[in-house]
Amino acid sequence: MKNKATIFITILACLPVWTTLLFPAAGSCQDRIRTTQPRVMIDPGHGGRDSGLLLPSGLSEKTVTLTLSRLVAEQINKQYKVLFTRQDDRFIDTIARTEAANTQQADLFVSIHLKATTSNQATVFHYKPCDNRPIPAAGKDLAWHWQHLPHEDKSRQLCKTLTQSIASLFPGQEPQIISAPVAMLAGCQMPAVLIEPFALKTLPLDESSRIVWIKKYAAAIKTGIESYLNTL
Ligand SMILES: [Zn+2]
Repeated sequence: MKNKATIFITILACLPVWTTLLFPAAGSCQDRIRTTQPRVMIDPGHGGRDSGLLLPSGLSEKTVTLTLSRLVAEQINKQYKVLFTRQDDRFIDTIARTEAANTQQADLFVSIHLKATTSNQATVFHYKPCDNRPIPAAGKDLAWHWQHLPHEDKSRQLCKTLTQSIASLFPGQEPQIISAPVAMLAGCQMPAVLIEPFALKTLPLDESSRIVWIKKYAAAIKTGIESYLNTL
């Protein structure tokens, strides 16, 4: 009896090893699921020596875009693989941001900036060549501008889901979609947008109220990204 129990326990203990030997793919199943997750590249605007917009209080665009980006990532990182162009206060060349999205094979590129106005009307940009006469980005040839061409329709669709999401969370707002020759978007080999969800000047001065405000916009961006990816 004792021997039988020992054999049974031994069999149980060896099960994981046998499973791995007999079904080698079983152990990597989770990894395979993970690699099929859409890869969302979030680009917090500015950084390092480039503050972007700067208020007399010292609050800068680069700080708020990083906070907002982190909050968006927190809300989507269970469904999607989130990538960042920067996760701290460092300077990154504009075109290096595009190249990071391309080399890391992002499925989506969302660059986050803030408005310089006092109006909170959100704006979402997608790439459109200037009068069909593209201007090369610094150090790039004209071919750079055609990399985004196959993705223009999807970029417009992403603009639409983002503006719809902001409009539903902030009634009375009429977010704008703008086509512009944004050099950073031109080289993106995936759907790509630049969003300015609100104005830096309108942020509450009190830090805790400010976070509540930014979180609401993070939720709107999350819903916009989700709605877009659900249509694919
Ligand atoms: Zn900016």
